[in-house]
Amino acid sequence: MRPKGEILPKTKKGLFDHLKKEAKTDEWARVRKEITPYFVAHGIYNVCEAKLPVCIGTALELQFAHSKKRVDWATDGRARQEDAREVIRACTACHEALEHLPEKDGRTGRERMRDAIRAIIAGRGFNVYSKRSAQA
Ligand SMILES: [Zn+2]
Repeated sequence: MRPKGEILPKTKKGLFDHLKKEAKTDEWARVRKEITPYFVAHGIYNVCEAKLPVCIGTALELQFAHSKKRVDWATDGRARQEDAREVIRACTACHEALEHLPEKDGRTGRERMRDAIRAIIAGRGFNVYSKRSAQA
């Protein structure tokens, strides 16, 4: 059997990036299907959990907002599953605002988004962060 390095030369970094992206999209499709019933059961599927000043509430389309942008998800299977599950329900306005938080106090916008979403998850006392808690 040939070593992996010969099949996927390290000098060609990025060559299979489209496959990784596809894998994350597939992963999220699976996770979304799995976690949606828990949001429904906890009565938070049809509400915006972020409730930022820009919130447009429940009237318009709600989405899942991840603590991490997909490009920042772990590549490792289990860590990636947890990244895929670290989500809140947010209206389009709040989701957009979270995605575009400016850098502040030495924290990047991405870090602030991650912390804000984690705080919301911690505050609701229910999460689908890990498979185990999702099955509870
Ligand atoms: Zn909102």
